[in-house]
Amino acid sequence: MRILIGKVKDHMDSEVEISGWAQNIRVMSSVLFIELRDVSGTVQGVLLRKGNEELFNDLKTIPRETVMSIKGLAVKSQAKIGYEVQINHLDILNKAETPLPLGVVDRIDSDIETRLENRFLDLRRPEILSIFKIQSTISNAIRNYFVQKGFIEIHSPKIVAAATEGGTELFPVKYFERNAYLSQSPQLYKEIMMSAGFDKVFEVAPAFRAEEHNTPRHINEFTSLDMEMSFVDDNDVMDVLEEVIKTAFRSVADSNQRELEILGVSNPTIDYKFRRITYSEYVKMANEKGIDLKDGEDLSTLVLKTVGGGMNEFYFITRWPRALKPFYVQPHDEQYSRGFDLQFGELEITSGAQRVHSPEVLVNNLKAKGLNPESFAFYVNAFRYGMPPHAGWAIGLERLTMVLLNISNIRETTLFPRDRTRVTP
Ligand code: ATP
Repeated sequence: MRILIGKVKDHMDSEVEISGWAQNIRVMSSVLFIELRDVSGTVQGVLLRKGNEELFNDLKTIPRETVMSIKGLAVKSQAKIGYEVQINHLDILNKAETPLPLGVVDRIDSDIETRLENRFLDLRRPEILSIFKIQSTISNAIRNYFVQKGFIEIHSPKIVAAATEGGTELFPVKYFERNAYLSQSPQLYKEIMMSAGFDKVFEVAPAFRAEEHNTPRHINEFTSLDMEMSFVDDNDVMDVLEEVIKTAFRSVADSNQRELEILGVSNPTIDYKFRRITYSEYVKMANEKGIDLKDGEDLSTLVLKTVGGGMNEFYFITRWPRALKPFYVQPHDEQYSRGFDLQFGELEITSGAQRVHSPEVLVNNLKAKGLNPESFAFYVNAFRYGMPPHAGWAIGLERLTMVLLNISNIRETTLFPRDRTRVTP
């Protein structure tokens, strides 16, 4: 029975069967060493020429990254990891072609485009694999948190008729005789679920944004971790968000020591304070740093860099001006809203809000934003027959991974990024 290479150490002085990719083969006169890699690690297989002449000669010229299966004795040795496998039997399962379009073990730094072009090879590198093992821990921890707290997982449609925010960031889809769009957010649907009485819902799903510009923090398809709760306000869901992020980071610290080590990243800190700074205070902080910014203006990349760049922590920006937040955000007073963003330094990780629940306010807001309430009838109707007060938020999974691992380009935390110029692989 095949075991994972990472488990060989538990089978000393026993016969083991392992399978994987031969990432390096060193041939001496009477012995050869094969470095075999699978998802759990690498181990050295040793083959003596004596008694294995034919296999020895076959392996001498075998290309790197060939897939093979080995049976042999696991023994303590001088190898770097302290043990190796003495090969008794070896099957070549699939030969790799040469040359490799991208090295897997070579220490040559390839540029990101070449790496993405050959992503299947790039992903074989332990440090890249580690990013996605950690991302899996994050999304599982968050999902488990929601399930434990009694949230209902939903799957809202990704082909939609109306823009969530009436923005231009939409990908049109030909839907038979009509035009439709790829969903930029489950926002309207998760709110409808509050009217439907589901009380607490979450969804982990792709969101599509036709953003024209290439930036290190935007992709055109990202994974959105969304939640919505009834009978709560903005402060309540900020509390939940804080707990969710701490839970995710704790889970990575508990389950991914090896991956953090491979990536050279220290243990994720979980004692952040999650300060709540109002938008107006943030504007003052920008002014104190010499930036000419008026209350009511959007916080540009430059502002967020200048004020947030030095803040190596999570913090909320709360009470945004109504004019800067979408129509579904609940007003706080004439000027400000109950919308918030969660930032880490200069990077936005989450935006959320207490939402409008009154149908009159909703229709007025739509009109004020220049949107036609008729186009949103399916959504507005859900407000007319008993909509509870509600609030929620959305975390970008790739951005949260960036923060946890201190990675500056979102393409690194996306398996197969979609950006302005890339739709393959
Ligand atoms: P930004 O201001 O950074 O463009 P946004 O205000 O458009 O983000 P929201 O629409 O509020 O973002 O989406 C909620 C979360 O989804 C963001 O906080 C972010 O984590 C993530 N997100 C939004 N757009 C993108 C994108 N193009 N690529 C990756 N993640 C994104």
